[in-house]
Amino acid sequence: MEKYLTFRWILLGIGITAIVGLTGMNVYSLYSLHMNTVNNSIENQKNQLSEVSEQVRNRFRTPVRDIWKLNMGKIQHSSRKGKKTHREFLEMLEIASNDSIFSDIYFSGPDCQACEGEGELQHYNPVTNQLEWVSESPRVVHDGIGMARTRMLALVNEYRFKTRVIFDTHRTMTIALIDPRDHDIVGYLNFVINTDYFINNYLGPLLSKNFANGKSGVTVWLHDWTKDDILFATDINREYSRSDVDITQQFPDLLHDWNIKASVVHNPALIESRSSFYRNLGVMGATVCFLLGAMVFMFITAQRERNLAISQAGFLANVTHELKTPLAVMQAAGENLADGRVNNKDRLVSYGQHIFSEAVRLREMIDKMLDVAKADAGKLLLNAEPLPLNKTIKSFLDKGADLLEEKGFTLQFVPDKTNPKIFADKDNFNTILTNIIHNAVKYSPDEKFLRISIHQQDNNNVRVDIADRGLGIHRKDQKRIFEKFYRIEDALTAKTKGHGLGLAIVRNLTKLNGGQITLKSTYRKGSIFSLHFPVYNNHETNITDDKRERTTEEYINE
Ligand code: ADP
Repeated sequence: MEKYLTFRWILLGIGITAIVGLTGMNVYSLYSLHMNTVNNSIENQKNQLSEVSEQVRNRFRTPVRDIWKLNMGKIQHSSRKGKKTHREFLEMLEIASNDSIFSDIYFSGPDCQACEGEGELQHYNPVTNQLEWVSESPRVVHDGIGMARTRMLALVNEYRFKTRVIFDTHRTMTIALIDPRDHDIVGYLNFVINTDYFINNYLGPLLSKNFANGKSGVTVWLHDWTKDDILFATDINREYSRSDVDITQQFPDLLHDWNIKASVVHNPALIESRSSFYRNLGVMGATVCFLLGAMVFMFITAQRERNLAISQAGFLANVTHELKTPLAVMQAAGENLADGRVNNKDRLVSYGQHIFSEAVRLREMIDKMLDVAKADAGKLLLNAEPLPLNKTIKSFLDKGADLLEEKGFTLQFVPDKTNPKIFADKDNFNTILTNIIHNAVKYSPDEKFLRISIHQQDNNNVRVDIADRGLGIHRKDQKRIFEKFYRIEDALTAKTKGHGLGLAIVRNLTKLNGGQITLKSTYRKGSIFSLHFPVYNNHETNITDDKRERTTEEYINE
């Protein structure tokens, strides 16, 4: 038996560890799968955004795509005052000025005195298709050319190309024209960016086309980080929030004050992945709980059955022994009497008494076992009637008071002033009292004290306390002593005989009669068993004072 018990514990341990381990692995792989989807989705959007930013860069360069093909020497020569502007250069300027992305085009010589407040700049006039000298020009143009000049001062000696594009963030685009043969700056061509057109007619539609809300589930904002201002959003209903941003994309070498920011949280793929992650987690959690619960339940029931089997085996041994002892006494006495060997009158009486008392003991025991069996099968016949507690308990105690006193017990009985009644089977009630009082007597080896008190708690409830100052019961045993065949196995209780049935009977009968039993006990100090019953009120119409017979089933079904 012990071997199997250890084995069962080991199996339970392995089972639980396996379930927990497998669950952990599954949760981890589900999580990785979900995170992969998230990362892939973010990666996809990132690539798309980076493509968009490249497209923007190309967009600005498209009108001046062929500028590198121009002859820088000719441009330099023609840019002096009084000279006619190089024709191909003008053709390129015309193409650029036709593009609404630029609102103005200016040209300055390499020194750009205008930027220092002296001298003039040339402005491209689309009507005349000519570069015209102007003494007034916007501040942004000077800033743009100034910035390009500073950059080129550091670069020009190693630079191998004819052009270099420099953006003054979203305001201007300046192209430095270089003669790579002698690393000489030919001039600076400055394009004033038409920001409104760029945002509303180019970048906005481009972003909407790629990331329109609902289609991709992504919201994209064009954000001016220097002013913390949203210039464009693919979903006007969605408020910008820094915490929602999953991707930030800069423009390569242009529009430095602006970023494209994207939130992918509403991406349908992600939403689906997230909800499927949680759904799987839920299903798995429920399955695991169910499995663990089933395992623990099976383990506990197996354990209970084992305990029951042990108790029943013990009970059988005990009962056999208990049955055999009186039978052996009766058999021996009967044999002697039958042989006619006993002639002495006193001995005859004594033999008769022996046989009688052993027969009574035997009957009591058989009755007890039958009671349990009947209660178990739900066949106990209830004969419920209104019982005045003071009177019922008093007359019960009167019958046994002498016996208790003989055993050295101090008996106290405290009736209740209101004389409450309960509606119960009298025989059952007496059996309950008998069992509890017998136990009090059995388990009070030292201080022999018994107190029975009645307490009407309110209009509806009454309590009967049966208190002793005996061995008391450990807290851990307090629930279990009401189980069938349960006996406390310790040195003190081992001295007394019993089958572990008395309190099981008490609990069954109390329940059947509509009450319940509770226990308060302190080890080595004593115990109080309390019977709680509903008070029987005379004016209750559906219950008469007549005796009624009902089966247990009827009671339970009520
Ligand atoms: P039995 O007395 O035949 O063993 P019971 O069902 O009446 O069976 O009681 C179950 C166990 O509860 C007993 O074995 C005993 O250890 C404990 N017990 C019952 N009543 C008392 C009591 N008044 N004081 C101490 N222990 C008790």
